[in-house]
Amino acid sequence: MAHLDLHHFICREDNYGVLAHDHRSGATASIDAPDALAVERALKTKGWQLTHILTTHHHGDHVEGNLALKEAFGCTIIGPRNDGEIPGMDKAVAGGDTFTFAGREVRVMDTPGHTKGHIVYYLPSEHVLFAGDTLFEMGCGRVIEGTLEQMWQSLDQLRKLPTHTIVHVGHEYSEANARFGLSIEPGNRALQQRAGIVAAQRTKGEMTLPTTIGEELKTNVFLRPESPEIRKKLGLENASDAEVFAETRRRKDSFK
Ligand SMILES: [Zn+2]
Repeated sequence: MAHLDLHHFICREDNYGVLAHDHRSGATASIDAPDALAVERALKTKGWQLTHILTTHHHGDHVEGNLALKEAFGCTIIGPRNDGEIPGMDKAVAGGDTFTFAGREVRVMDTPGHTKGHIVYYLPSEHVLFAGDTLFEMGCGRVIEGTLEQMWQSLDQLRKLPTHTIVHVGHEYSEANARFGLSIEPGNRALQQRAGIVAAQRTKGEMTLPTTIGEELKTNVFLRPESPEIRKKLGLENASDAEVFAETRRRKDSFK
């Protein structure tokens, strides 16, 4: 079976929209729906018809387009069972659930932290992860509803996916994340290099997605609590990985 065709675009200010399309059946999923008009425009560009919305969490900038898109396309909306109100949701799922999209298995993983019931979608046959606001390029979501410990467990699960897994995330925050990362792990050569690449891309107005789990393991300080340099910097040489993550996340919250 040919791989799904993925198309991503920036909408609102810094949200990423992404469409996944199967040529054979015509099935097309929008992962989250930040902005109905932007999603419709992207569909039109590609000549695709929306059949599904896969919602990662309840925040307005991820579900605002749900009802208008459902009205326009009659699409099926799948979303998190334990994350509050998801407009127009037809089917609620949670970690451990699987379902089929265009003949492919979709595995749902619970990743609480950013919100209490945030989920991500992993398609093993496509080697693709739709991470929403749990993981960003060189960053992770702010811990708003869950605990730092939960967020660490969520990210630790994602760290264990195959390194070649292609990752789509909910926001374009790469430049700010790279700057923060270098403040915590200035000697990380891979991060230094990537910071230069994304700065050049952003100057030209280019998108920096997708990333991979392998790339994030090398350059994302939130996934690197074992790093001796980070531990030394934070004065947490003997702390647990969860504690190192928690301190890294706290520092990012107040980083200017
Ligand atoms: Zn969010």
